[in-house]
Amino acid sequence: MLFSKRILKLSESPTLQLNNKINGLLQKGEDVINLTVGEPDYVEPIESSYSAIKAICDHFTHYTNSSGIISLRESICAKLLKENNLAYTPDQIVVSAGGKQALFNAFFVLLNGGEEVLIPTPAWPTYKQQVLLCGGTPVLIPLDESSEFKLTKETLKAFITPRSKILVLNSPSNPTGATYSEEELDDLVSIVEENGLYVISDEIYERLVYSGTYSSPVGINDYMKKHSVLVNGFSKAFGMTGWRIGYTAAPLDISIKIAAFQSQTTASISSISQVAAKYAINNFDKEHLIELKEKRNYLIHQLADTPLKIDVEPGGAFYLFPRVDSVLGNSIYGESIDSVEALCASLLEREHVAITPGSFFDAPNNVRISYAKSMQEICDAAQRIKKYFKEGM
Ligand code: PLP
Repeated sequence: MLFSKRILKLSESPTLQLNNKINGLLQKGEDVINLTVGEPDYVEPIESSYSAIKAICDHFTHYTNSSGIISLRESICAKLLKENNLAYTPDQIVVSAGGKQALFNAFFVLLNGGEEVLIPTPAWPTYKQQVLLCGGTPVLIPLDESSEFKLTKETLKAFITPRSKILVLNSPSNPTGATYSEEELDDLVSIVEENGLYVISDEIYERLVYSGTYSSPVGINDYMKKHSVLVNGFSKAFGMTGWRIGYTAAPLDISIKIAAFQSQTTASISSISQVAAKYAINNFDKEHLIELKEKRNYLIHQLADTPLKIDVEPGGAFYLFPRVDSVLGNSIYGESIDSVEALCASLLEREHVAITPGSFFDAPNNVRISYAKSMQEICDAAQRIKKYFKEGM
């Protein structure tokens, strides 16, 4: 057989595939408003741009330490201590090509064949695919609006088996925006600890929390600090998706394995991006959060008189995740809408608004709308969506 069994299990990222299709339409000059993207419309801090240009001019352009330049890892430790009250040393940090690689590193070093990874869903589809690639067994825990898309200790307990090894937590969540409070995490951690689980805590949307303060699952107690891999990055908070910088912070024994694995798979990530990240880390612009909150509130208000039902206000990230089941099975503009895929395709064709089917995240009754776009695009998209349902149904 030409291909490995591992690769035959893999599906391409459906969100990136959809995005490629939309980019094709945009290149043809179609007036599409793209609300599928998982990236902000703001850009990196100016300090990062200048420092990256200087790094190039200074020829800081060779391989670096494969775990990342020491000054960036020190800055990450300082950030984790100051903002999350988590004490790490630079040898516990590995800087990777985005949070995506950081997650893959963590799954790869922790998983053996047949070990189960508990993934509360709706979830970012990459978790499941990476677990499969690493030989693990993804166990999806279905959640819905009734628990505000949050895992409870009772539900977690029901899915634990003797093969359970890792629980993935993603707060705030892509795609639901669900953000756990410290009390909710406390509850979950008691079960995690009782069952000797490890946690991979994907904190990539950590800075995008709209009310209250962010609680890292890793900071809940000493057990969590010793049994968690914290994953974070610069893509979402700093608008630096293309620079490809993420990292893991982990107990030293895990970090040593991640560093060894990365040294054989990547050598080191871009030296220039690392310098840019070092200058970004202390320059988060709170204005981004204020603007995103305004966009979130505006869109929730605008969609209130459409069949897109938002029962749970998302507490973080930059997505709405409305239910659309009242539409499914109906016809719109004479076309039968029997799935969320059909609804998204019809909205794209009729009104040139691109949103993501919830089925990509194992939620076939919802759609995901990213509001990390300009206010003008959000306003236009809201008008088009309202028109689509008003005139089509
Ligand atoms: N985790 C979640 C939940 C995400 O949505 C993303 C990106 O969409 C990532 C991790 C990885 O982001 P990056 O690889 O750009 O750091």
